[in-house]
Amino acid sequence: MIDRYGREIDYIRISVTDRCNLRCVYCMPEEGILLTSHQEILRFHEIVHLAGIFASAGIRKIKLTGGEPLVRLQIEQLVKELKGTEGIEQVTLTTNGTLLREKAEALVQAGIDGVNISLNSLDPEEYRQITRKEELDKVWEGFQEMRKYPEVPVKINCVSMEQSPSGICRTAAIARDYPVHVRFIEMMPIGLGESCKGRSEEELLQILEKEFGSGTPITEKLGNGPCHYVQFEGFQGKIGFISAMSHKFCDRCNRIRLTSQGYLKTCLQYDRGVDLREPLRTGASDHMLRELILQAVSHKPASHAFTEKVSREREEKFMSQIGG
Ligand code: SAM
Ligand code: SF4
Repeated sequence: MIDRYGREIDYIRISVTDRCNLRCVYCMPEEGILLTSHQEILRFHEIVHLAGIFASAGIRKIKLTGGEPLVRLQIEQLVKELKGTEGIEQVTLTTNGTLLREKAEALVQAGIDGVNISLNSLDPEEYRQITRKEELDKVWEGFQEMRKYPEVPVKINCVSMEQSPSGICRTAAIARDYPVHVRFIEMMPIGLGESCKGRSEEELLQILEKEFGSGTPITEKLGNGPCHYVQFEGFQGKIGFISAMSHKFCDRCNRIRLTSQGYLKTCLQYDRGVDLREPLRTGASDHMLRELILQAVSHKPASHAFTEKVSREREEKFMSQIGG
C-alpha cells in the first residue's frame, strides 16, 4: 500500500488485548483501565481473517502487541496461524517479558521471528517505581529463556525516563554482555506519557559516551522501523534510539495499527482510522473490508504534532489500549 505521501505501508502492529499485568506509569493508571468485555475484543479467527486482507493489500510484517500480548491465552496459536497467512513474511512480538519464561518454547515452535522485551531498568527499586510491580526477576528469567533459541532475535526496549545515569549504563551494558540490541525509546506525550519526563537521545548519548567511549553511528538500515543505531567498542549488540520527539521520522513511517477492538489506526497520535470489527461481524465481503483499509490508509496523516502545544484530534486513549 502506498499512501498519498508516497510512503509504503507494509507493517502492522496488532494489539491482541488491552489487559496487562504491569502498570507502567507512562502507560497505564495504577488502578488499571475499564476493561473491555471479551465480546468486544477480536477473536483469533477474526484477527487472522483481517491479516489475510491486510496481506492482500501489501502488509508483510506483523508485530503483536497489547496490553501485554502474553496474557492472552494460546497466543502461540495466533502466531502459528499468522505465520501461515499468505503474504506475511514476519511475525514478531513485543512483551514486558514477565510471562516469557513459560511461553518462549511455544512461541518459538509456532515460528515467532523476533521478540522485543520491554525492560526499563535492571535496578529492582527503579523497575518497581516505573512498572509499579516487582517482576524484574521474571523478566530476566524470560530473557535468559529466550537465549536458548539464538535463532530468534531478541531486542531490549527501554523507555527513557529519568532513570539514573548508572542505571541507563547498566541497561545498555546488556548489549555488551549479550548479543542483543538495546534500544532507548523517547517518551511520547500520549495518555499518561504526557505527564512523564523523559530524556532526549542527546542526553542519553552523552551519558553513554561518558561511560563507554564514543559510539560509532551505523549507517546501514537494521530492522523494520525508525530505530537508528550506534556501536560501542567491545559491545556484542548495538545501542539503538527510537526518537519520535527529537528526531521525527514520520516521513518514513511504514506502519498502521489495529487495536484489540478492531479499530484500524493510521497514526499513533490521532484517533483517525476506521472500525473494521462491525463490518467484519456483519458480513462485509473481503473486497469491502479491503476498500475500507485502503481508504483509511490513503488518509493517513502526514505526521504527528506531538511538539505542538495544542493539537487537533488528539488521541485520548492510554498506550496500553493502542499497542505502542
Ligand atoms: N506490554 C508490552 C510491552 O510493554 O512491550 C506491549 C505493549 S506496550 C504499550 C508497547 C511499547 O510501547 C512498549 O515498548 C512500551 O514501553 C511503549 N510505550 C508505552 N507508552 C509509551 C510512551 N508514552 N512513550 C513511549 N513509549 C511508550
Ligand atoms: Fe503493560 Fe506494556 Fe503498558 Fe507497561 S508498557 S503497562 S507492560 S502494556
